[in-house]
Amino acid sequence: MGVLYSVIRFENLHELKRLCHWGPIIALGVIAICSTMAMIDSVLWYWPLHTTGGSVNFIMLINWTVMILYNYFNAMFVGPGYVPLKWKPEKAQDTTYLQFCKVCQAYKAPRSHHCRKCNRCVMKMDHHCPWINNCCGFQNHASFTLFLLLAPLGCIHAAFIFVMTMYTQLYNRISFGWNTVKIDMSAAKRDPLPIIPFGLSAFAASLFALGLAVGTTIAVGMLFFIQMKVILRNKTSIESWIEEKAKDRIQFYQTAEIFVFPYDMGSRWQNFKQVFTWSGVPEGDGLEWPIREGCHPYSLTIEQLKQKADKRVRSVRYKVIDAYSGACCPLNKGIKTFFTTPCTEEPRISLKKGELILVTRGLRHWMYGDKILDYLATEDGSRIRGWFPRKCVEKFHCDAETDQASEGEKKNR
Ligand SMILES: [Zn+2]
Ligand SMILES: [Zn+2]
Repeated sequence: MGVLYSVIRFENLHELKRLCHWGPIIALGVIAICSTMAMIDSVLWYWPLHTTGGSVNFIMLINWTVMILYNYFNAMFVGPGYVPLKWKPEKAQDTTYLQFCKVCQAYKAPRSHHCRKCNRCVMKMDHHCPWINNCCGFQNHASFTLFLLLAPLGCIHAAFIFVMTMYTQLYNRISFGWNTVKIDMSAAKRDPLPIIPFGLSAFAASLFALGLAVGTTIAVGMLFFIQMKVILRNKTSIESWIEEKAKDRIQFYQTAEIFVFPYDMGSRWQNFKQVFTWSGVPEGDGLEWPIREGCHPYSLTIEQLKQKADKRVRSVRYKVIDAYSGACCPLNKGIKTFFTTPCTEEPRISLKKGELILVTRGLRHWMYGDKILDYLATEDGSRIRGWFPRKCVEKFHCDAETDQASEGEKKNR
């Protein structure tokens, strides 16, 4: 069933272009190096055709590779699932609880977010993962997490093989004198000679593959635990952030609201079953979500709307006083700006003197905000936002009109 599912989706041949990106190229490279080296080393260390142990070892290796690649490609090509273009909720009055995405010309379904890389609204978006060059969300959450589990398991097996091969090969070549240890890499003492000669380059290659395998186990293993936390709490990384901001907002305005996250069903098993099913297809349609008893069906999106309004009130206008090219590490904006460039894939925006920017957050030497564009330019929904050096702007003192506007927004809350 699962296989058929992904094969049908393979009709979308244009999806193959997802492979042309540094993420999948590196990820598939690591998988190829580790599994090929593990198979070559297995032949040397534990010849698969003579003993049951050797056969099991080899079959297990092939099994890891197939399962890792299957889940990896499923996560990449099945994708997270997108909110249909021009989507609106069944009941017209529900639109008041939802944000509107100008790019997709659709309401943002609960739990969906617009991904700038995919350029679509993604169902239950967790994050855009560069390693699969796709978003992790509603439809591929299970296969993505399985990949994160299987890759470290396969790597641990491979690392064990690398260590055992290097150990046995060294052992065969090592000779102990009274006070000397000699390693002769040119000849093995073992009889019969191995099928593949294990020279210095093979030793170096095994050591390199061991490094890759250990590194992958640690890095990917950590990601697995993060994703399991997300699944068991039924709360994506983005939603954790929204919840945090909700607490912050309630504390700031001292309102007596209590924000309860609505999608956590209260039991880890229930949350788990929503993502992992026997058919491989997650429960539900990705647009409507079961909620906890006593919660409003749109309580999260309502909170998002409140935060959006709040952001507008709390953001500050800045005016550009010095042009900026949009370079990641600009050379002419001082050494501190150069070295403290934000470590994120978020874009930088070029600035022209006199432009206005609505700043929403900032670091010591960098700021993040939206360019305030002409009314006509914003009609199509495009926004220009990103990082720029703090040096290039100064605070713009609002006139009385805009002050009143933000006051009004505050009272409306
Ligand atoms: Zn969108
Ligand atoms: Zn994406």
